[in-house]
Amino acid sequence: MSDAGAFGHLQALQKIADENGGNRASPSPGYDASVDYVAGVLRAAGYDVSTPTYELSREHSREQGTARNVITQTRSGDPAHVVVIGAHLDSVDNGPGIVDNGSGIATLLEIARHLGPSAPLRNTVRFAFFGSEESDAEGSKSYVNGLSAGDRDKIVLYLNVDMVASPNGGYFAQGGVGDDASETGPPGSAAVASILAGQLASTGVKPEITKFVGDDESAFVEAGIPSGGAENGDRKEKSGAQAQAWGGQADERYDPCYHKACDRIENVNRVVLGHYLAALAGTVAHFATSDPARLR
Ligand code: ZN
Repeated sequence: MSDAGAFGHLQALQKIADENGGNRASPSPGYDASVDYVAGVLRAAGYDVSTPTYELSREHSREQGTARNVITQTRSGDPAHVVVIGAHLDSVDNGPGIVDNGSGIATLLEIARHLGPSAPLRNTVRFAFFGSEESDAEGSKSYVNGLSAGDRDKIVLYLNVDMVASPNGGYFAQGGVGDDASETGPPGSAAVASILAGQLASTGVKPEITKFVGDDESAFVEAGIPSGGAENGDRKEKSGAQAQAWGGQADERYDPCYHKACDRIENVNRVVLGHYLAALAGTVAHFATSDPARLR
């Protein structure tokens, strides 16, 4: 696993956007090409891949019809105990979405390739690439709501990855803090955030623990599944204390290209990406080999 590998996926997603009108929003040809790219990388690594469709709602989508999520999991590990790591595969309409959220996609792809489909694991690891996060998280909501109660019960935890390579990025682990259940996640979420935070710290950056703000984890949270999240901040400004602790520019946005046309390959901060890639791989390895009873 390497950040060079992850950067190669980001270059591929940039090329897809360039060839499809400058974006990868779902639904669009650029989104379909992104689905095909992710499925192709996973199949080449030996995974069985499914691309389940979901209905686009009249309320949130400019087009009717369906779009696809991408789902795969290891053949190893106990399938009654599934650790799910997910990231959204769509961009906004007006940009290629290379940090938001190509960076999450590239991270999942590198972890999946490095792990392989048959690694010796205690629990099964599932990788989920969701469409339409930028349209009320429709892909992840349809996916979770479409699972049987039994299949939802098998999910030990959900780990969301959304923006992990911003030019002035910070280091945040979500889960277990906030004023209500939608912000904290269900019981067990603090433990997910704590393991991610420890993994980030072991790469040399001590993260802040923050609340959920309604991304792809929402449906998992509502289903009572312990959840955690990795995100480096978007439109807010980095504080002086954060710049001192983590580097970067105080009083500047974490990502000046957030949801803009300039969220291109040039927007990627490979140092931030490298910290998250190592920490998320360590977090997945931790939970894939842990006693599932300790969380649920
Ligand atoms: Zn995002």
